[in-house]
Amino acid sequence: MSPVLSGVQVTAATRILTVLGDPVEHSLSPLIQNAALAEAELDAIYVAFRCDGEDVPTLIRALARAGGAGNVTLPHKERAAAVVEEASEAVRRTGACNTFWSENGTLYGDNTDVQGFREALHVFRPTGVAGARVLLLGAGGAARAALVSLLDEGVGEVVILNRTLERARVMSRRIGGDRARVAESVSDLEDREFELVVNATRLGLRPEDPLPVALEKLEAVGGVMDLVYGRKETPFVLHARAAGIPAVDGREMLVRQGAASFARWWNRSAPLAAMRQVLDDGSEG
Ligand code: NAP
Repeated sequence: MSPVLSGVQVTAATRILTVLGDPVEHSLSPLIQNAALAEAELDAIYVAFRCDGEDVPTLIRALARAGGAGNVTLPHKERAAAVVEEASEAVRRTGACNTFWSENGTLYGDNTDVQGFREALHVFRPTGVAGARVLLLGAGGAARAALVSLLDEGVGEVVILNRTLERARVMSRRIGGDRARVAESVSDLEDREFELVVNATRLGLRPEDPLPVALEKLEAVGGVMDLVYGRKETPFVLHARAAGIPAVDGREMLVRQGAASFARWWNRSAPLAAMRQVLDDGSEG
């Protein structure tokens, strides 16, 4: 994938935007955000910092105070939510923050994964999810954003399955209300039908990862949204398609949440087409 920054003059005035995470090497945010900055002719660069959780509060505060801004990715979004001074409704509802910036000395935080998931869902399922039964895998930052979006879209029931049961219970109690319930294991789901399965675990990031769930164990599945993304289709997307189930990976959500973050930092709408194009150019299928 060719760097889009070639030819850009970095000066003392250049604004620095970051994504903070661990791991962060897989992130395609630098690619799409630098493409957006180039298209919009903004004097800024976007870089990834792999950092420990304990450094997140200091980094966010210092970067924002110095005129920078950025994203936060796994596993630091919950910690970031506790740092920002002015939290958006999405941050308050999810307890997770993926976007920070400073205005007049105040540190703002938003969770644009909520908007990104909702918009990607509309692209994948134009008919929506009103009344639908959804299986949500995971209980981290991405899962919380998906759960908030699904509830706002009128979903009938969300069944949450997560490796750490207690984390799923906390998420269900905090966000889900009476439309969410927690499954204790995949065997609880064997005779269940789901209109949609959402993978919000990190399984699929590494080639050696197991599938987040074996879809043949479920009675019927109408579609799969894998929030994981990479330069190729994810193993879970390939697994679903092999079973004849329509499936998408997390790239559309990535572009949508990135565009929403861009809008917060620059008070203007993002060049969505340029962001999507750079992903398509680098895609290996
Ligand atoms: P996170 O807060 O660290 O949560 C990770 C989730 O994965 C938790 O539910 C965790 O379960 C589960 N998990 C981790 N290792 C596991 C394993 N070995 N077996 C089973 N479950 C495991 O991360 P996140 O921010 O929610 O991100 C999750 C994924 O979504 C990442 O791949 C990220 O890249 C992707 N994402 C994509 C977008 C997008 O725009 N497409 C946006 C946000 C996130 P435990 O609770 O048991 O630890």
